[in-house]
Amino acid sequence: MRLVVDLNRCQGYAQCAFLAPDVFAMHGDEGLLYDPQAEEAQRERVAQAAAACPVQAILVDDLDRVATSSATAPSGAGGGTSDG
Ligand code: SF4
Repeated sequence: MRLVVDLNRCQGYAQCAFLAPDVFAMHGDEGLLYDPQAEEAQRERVAQAAAACPVQAILVDDLDRVATSSATAPSGAGGGTSDG
């Protein structure tokens, strides 16, 4: 699974490091280290960490929204585009 932490948002609350210590770790006073390609087994913990983050700095598997790489769209019908 892929995840990313918006370190500009991160305030170092360490909720994530508490909930998913195998993925997130505090380094020093405010520095957060994390594994951007966490084991699939960590998904539930990472989801809890993302939900617990006070500033919603943790993004999980939703990276296509923030990444500007050319990705192939999944085959599917319909769907509108919405800018928001
Ligand atoms: S819970 Fe959110 S604000 Fe706190 S250290 Fe983790 S990513 Fe940063």
